[in-house]
Amino acid sequence: MRRPIVIGNWKMNGDYAANRELLTGLVEQWTGVHQAEVAVCPPFVYLAQAAELLENTNIGFGSQDISKQASGAYTGEVSGPMLSDVGCRYALVGHSERREYHGETSQLVAEKFQAALDNGLIPVLCVGESLEDREAGKTFDVVGAQLLAVIEHCGLAGVAKGIIAYEPIWAIGTGKTATPEMAQDVHSYIREVMGPEGDSVRILYGGSVKPDSAEGLFGQKDIDGALVGGASLNADDFVAICRAA
Ligand code: PGA
Repeated sequence: MRRPIVIGNWKMNGDYAANRELLTGLVEQWTGVHQAEVAVCPPFVYLAQAAELLENTNIGFGSQDISKQASGAYTGEVSGPMLSDVGCRYALVGHSERREYHGETSQLVAEKFQAALDNGLIPVLCVGESLEDREAGKTFDVVGAQLLAVIEHCGLAGVAKGIIAYEPIWAIGTGKTATPEMAQDVHSYIREVMGPEGDSVRILYGGSVKPDSAEGLFGQKDIDGALVGGASLNADDFVAICRAA
């Protein structure tokens, strides 16, 4: 049994006041026992605020990135030991915005995935194709290569300790969600690549997930939840997605 999980990726948004409002709103609406596991990923500088406001709640938190190094002269980086020290449970790795704007290669992403595992964090590996790749019929090739790089570095069992998020780049922040069937096709392919671990690994969909598209996506057999950007900045919308999971 794969427990559904919904993770909010705040990206570079928020400030103390807005975060407080959002987090207290989430905590108020997400009391009691739920089927889905829920977490948010605020910017690094607000992780301590999230730790404080989410203490003793059923909402976890994680980082949007992680250094492959553990400590030392790496200006601007934030390490796995630091993230576990502040109470992170998850670390996103290889988000398409990191790959695109910060030149992160699949090799680096694999090393970051391992760094998260080494520090007791649950890495959330983001993979996904561009519109050009999709139109050229290369979706499986691109997603497969991104995944294989991490499998080669961390092993199948290592990857299975994390979570995989399929996020087609053309659907991120564009309002264009993949249809449930399109997403299902890729999720099922990812399970195939994961071989013996395919049945147990959790695979999330990400890309313009909103309350009204969530139910259709979560109805697919290989979709275990969502990585939510824009809609995670609104407590009502995010909780509606969490309830659908
Ligand atoms: P979006 O972002 O929901 O705003 O499309 C998803 C993501 O990038 O994780």
